[in-house]
Amino acid sequence: MNVAESERMAGQLQKIGYTLTEEFETADLILFNTCCVRSTAEDKIYGKIGEIKKYKRQNPALIIGVVGCLAQKDGEELIKRSPHVDFVLGTGQRGELVNVVETFEFKRRQFVDVSNVSGIINDENILPIRAGQVSAFVPIMYGCNNFCTYCIVPHVRGRERSRLPEEIINEVTETVKDGFKEITLLGQNVNSYDGGGKTFAELLREVDKISGLKRLRFMTSHPKDLSDELINAMACGENICEHIHLPVQYGENTILQKMNRVYTVEKYLALVKKIRAAIPNISLTTDLIVGFPGETDETFAETLKFLEEVRFDMAFTFIYSKRSGTPAANFPDQIDEELKHKRLDELMKLQNKISLEKNLELNGKVVEVLVEGASKTDKNIYTGRTRQNKLVLFEHGTEKVGDIIDVKINQVQTWLVKGARV
Ligand code: SAH
Ligand code: SF4
Repeated sequence: MNVAESERMAGQLQKIGYTLTEEFETADLILFNTCCVRSTAEDKIYGKIGEIKKYKRQNPALIIGVVGCLAQKDGEELIKRSPHVDFVLGTGQRGELVNVVETFEFKRRQFVDVSNVSGIINDENILPIRAGQVSAFVPIMYGCNNFCTYCIVPHVRGRERSRLPEEIINEVTETVKDGFKEITLLGQNVNSYDGGGKTFAELLREVDKISGLKRLRFMTSHPKDLSDELINAMACGENICEHIHLPVQYGENTILQKMNRVYTVEKYLALVKKIRAAIPNISLTTDLIVGFPGETDETFAETLKFLEEVRFDMAFTFIYSKRSGTPAANFPDQIDEELKHKRLDELMKLQNKISLEKNLELNGKVVEVLVEGASKTDKNIYTGRTRQNKLVLFEHGTEKVGDIIDVKINQVQTWLVKGARV
């Protein structure tokens, strides 16, 4: 989401004459687009903001702005902690960035506005400067109404607002015309999309018809809202990829309830069964949190058992991070940091074993790969992804970025598979 929004802010700023640079030393404006979902993200940002103070000393005309979730959360406090920051703009006011920068250029007076977290963001006339060449993110909604008890997102992103279907279809059409092959529709909970009275499944079906689009993905789905209509749209879709990121967060009911996830382990398992029956070659990935308040050896053991039962293709695993202002921050029975780490290691070990076993199923098989380009470490090795979102490495021949090719897998690891073009 932040990558997508940074691309849009770059687009906004280009309209008033700025161009992108990687060089801090020569930049006229440094903009931090921030996250605060876990305290580690927050600490990192404060560290980075501190680090760039020296550039301001070298170049007093330099403008430093902070936007995104941490900006929304800390507001004035951020300027107090880091007085070299010139402006702080909240998540719901991203659309006002150009005004804020232009006003600052003129007045040079510190500025904080985080007053409208649920503000309407009009992206219609902004051409994002996209980071990739093949794959593009298109936000379809902002905010979240779910209030999982550990999560700060609804507090810093405001209430759910859906973009209109026409706007989304227009953006995807233009992006595909620009040569992008793959589109990922983004939202905190795409299944509760309701732009212009359309459901998410209806939107997905319409986007799927856009000519020239090769792959359609979406993120993220809350298990409580994943409808039969969506499963059906995926099963019948043309370019909708066989992958669902379906964060479960935990594999035991008392903790799920304390998390306010509104489903049970049994319901989640039934949903997985239904999805796999309708789309047999689906890959399923998830998010998991360990160390949530009240976790015990028993609830953790249940979660390991749950992982063995579902057998996710991959999982992002997080240590519970206390976010002030969220209910769980005040729950009793907070877990000791050392124990959290120990459990995380155990969880990751098990999931890594399962991910490797899942990848082993691909050995010897031919998969369809969308070519993304040379790997970072070796120009002769190219990378791409399967429709199931598995990372594939192969020796570069004549294929170009954006081609769709067949690769026969001959070696697998936990996080990627390797093969040769056939
Ligand atoms: N809207 C998405 C995810 C948003 S945040 C969803 O509901 O799936 C991304 C992930 O960060 C979450 O899935 C969760 O696993 C993790 N997360 C959120 N708050 C957290 C916290 N306080 N501590 C640790 N992990 C957290
Ligand atoms: Fe956070 Fe839950 Fe909303 Fe996801 S659904 S953003 S985890 S509150």
